[in-house]
Amino acid sequence: MTQSPIWHPFTQHGLGEPVPTVSHAVGAALYTKDNRRIIDAISSWWVTTHGHCHPRLMAAIRNQTEHLDQLIFAGWTHEPAEAVARGLTAIMPPALTRVFFSDSGSTCVEVALKMALGYWANRGEPRSRIVVMESSYHGDTIGTMSVGARGVFTAAYAPLLFDVGRIPFPSDPQATLDALEAQCRAGAAAFIVEPLVLGSGGMRIYSHDILTKMHEICVRYGVLFIADEVMTGWGRTGTLLACEQAGVVPDLLCLSKGLTGGSLPLAVTMASEAIWDAHYSTDRARTFFHSSSYTANAIACAAAAENLAIWREEPVLDSVAALAARQDRQLAGLKGHPAIHDIRRCGTITAMELGGGDAAYLSNLGPGLLAHFRERDVLLRPLGNTVYVMPPYCVEPDDLDTIYAAIRSAADAVASGAIR
Ligand SMILES: *Cc1c(COP(=O)(O)O)cnc(C)c1O
Repeated sequence: MTQSPIWHPFTQHGLGEPVPTVSHAVGAALYTKDNRRIIDAISSWWVTTHGHCHPRLMAAIRNQTEHLDQLIFAGWTHEPAEAVARGLTAIMPPALTRVFFSDSGSTCVEVALKMALGYWANRGEPRSRIVVMESSYHGDTIGTMSVGARGVFTAAYAPLLFDVGRIPFPSDPQATLDALEAQCRAGAAAFIVEPLVLGSGGMRIYSHDILTKMHEICVRYGVLFIADEVMTGWGRTGTLLACEQAGVVPDLLCLSKGLTGGSLPLAVTMASEAIWDAHYSTDRARTFFHSSSYTANAIACAAAAENLAIWREEPVLDSVAALAARQDRQLAGLKGHPAIHDIRRCGTITAMELGGGDAAYLSNLGPGLLAHFRERDVLLRPLGNTVYVMPPYCVEPDDLDTIYAAIRSAADAVASGAIR
């Protein structure tokens, strides 16, 4: 067999790890070319909400392909995009009146940052400092890396990254709030944060109460509040948006991943009327200068419109609550295991630390754990020593049993020194 020319993301090809070929998928199951059934315990990197190849989403996509594929979106529009925008403004916080399309989580965050700076520039009071939380992740472009955690992922590119204000993760809430207040007082343009759960930073969870207080501080100082709900949105944390649990309405909201139920790439940045107003003018210089070729692709929009219909018509939050309860029961079975620490859950997301050491991404347990799960046909991709479970909401109870059995046996192997 000839070697594939594909250069995979976040994959060190020099380690020679196998790259399985998946031929089809349904619900929470992936089927490989060599007839293995793999349980997708991380929703194919956090995107698949209702399950793979959801019949309603696939039908909507097929239907749209009969009508319109792609259209220039500067000065033109189409019904699927209008349906998505109407659907979003109907279920998202009413203060978020405007919908700007893009195509990935990184781009919708870039758009939010540009809108924040445009807001200040167009008001004639330019501000540019962005405040971020330590351990955050907002994407892999230069701009989104700049506002994210620095480390092994970003070291080579550090000279290109812009400077930001950083506040600590709220292990000590008052220290975080004081740091945010100091940054806001100094005249920050915006604060960007992952509400309730820092995903790539290690599924670090903080309380809704702190989110509420951070938002209050931003409001007090007129600093724009950007909620990056790319991962936490669409029910992951138990509610449609994580911000809801804190009673927070952001000025800018970033959505992607579950926007199409995880079926096609699409993203939106939702903005308040104040942000729109700052750009609205007869002066062309105040135009919001951003686009990508596939902005609001009609087929992706048809999938998103159908996802919104699923949210309107089906009891999605009941499935979310049922999954959360089943995850709790599974976690209870792991309590007290000598190699499992810091067991936590937020909505449908669970996480824990394996071993005793630190949770650095390149920690040595990572490859051993990955191999352990691969051998058991469970797709789990630990973040260093942090093992987390974030399945599609339709995951079967039996499959959840299999996932947690694989975690338990991995922890046994860590405790006995077989994985180290
Ligand atoms: C995944 C993610 C992104 C980046 O999304 P991409 O579609 O991978 O560019 C941004 N922010 C958060 C919180 C994410 O989890």
